[in-house]
Amino acid sequence: MTDNAFLDAGGERHGAQPGHGHDRRSGMAQTSLPVLMYHGIHADASSRGRYEPVYSVTAQAFSAQLDWLLARGYRSVRLDELCGDDARGGKRVVITFDDGDVSNFEVALPLLRERGFVAEFFVTSDFIGTDGMLTSADVRALSAAGMGVQSHGRTHRYLEDLAPGDLDEELSFSRQVLEQATGKAVDALALPGGRGGERERLVAQRLGYRYLLNSEPGPNRGWHADSYLQRLAVTRGMGMKEFAGMVTWSGIGPRMARMRYHALRLPKRMLGNRRYEQLRARMFGP
Ligand SMILES: [Zn+2]
Repeated sequence: MTDNAFLDAGGERHGAQPGHGHDRRSGMAQTSLPVLMYHGIHADASSRGRYEPVYSVTAQAFSAQLDWLLARGYRSVRLDELCGDDARGGKRVVITFDDGDVSNFEVALPLLRERGFVAEFFVTSDFIGTDGMLTSADVRALSAAGMGVQSHGRTHRYLEDLAPGDLDEELSFSRQVLEQATGKAVDALALPGGRGGERERLVAQRLGYRYLLNSEPGPNRGWHADSYLQRLAVTRGMGMKEFAGMVTWSGIGPRMARMRYHALRLPKRMLGNRRYEQLRARMFGP
């Protein structure tokens, strides 16, 4: 895989230094790659699955977002298509789901298929078959429908908190379970809670993961094989204007999201993950 392979595939080879994303020329449609991050699709707390007040998006909003992408000529790609010899060009988007909520199969899959979209489902393997989550048969069906099934860890513990042996086990075991369920290779990892850095990247790559995704908001300009793919969290109540600004990385919205992300990371680092969660719970409620 070459640096900036997915940028080159769109036919806009440019002279920026690989990995630095300093391409500042105009008409940069090909030089960014929006990777959307969804969780559950729920109308409200009574919906099937695990409703989450920040991350549960309604089916109506999700449909409208997919329709917006379609109308503007975006086509969705799986991660294994990013670095291939994809000569079709055009505007690409990667759609991802974290955790493995049952709504991924019951609600999101039909809406994606109606529009000819594909997505990557990052499933926490110990959650399979538990209350509100995908069953093993659902995971198999997602894969059979042409969707990607990838790892989101075994237990959803934050990888940066784990001792080396536990980290290896978390990444290896989850992949093994998912590969057994789907009969296909699992080669991507989305960090649980978005937490992790260089140590986690090196271990994951040593274990054979090719694509690593975090939760830092960004347009992925200058992404290369040894860096994380940034993702754009789609949250409940996000209006179309905000969604559009994020996907196109324009306006003040994305910069604000980025500042918020980094501002929240600072206390995380200083306090450690557990104390940070306690503080956050006190500040924002359960
Ligand atoms: Zn998660």
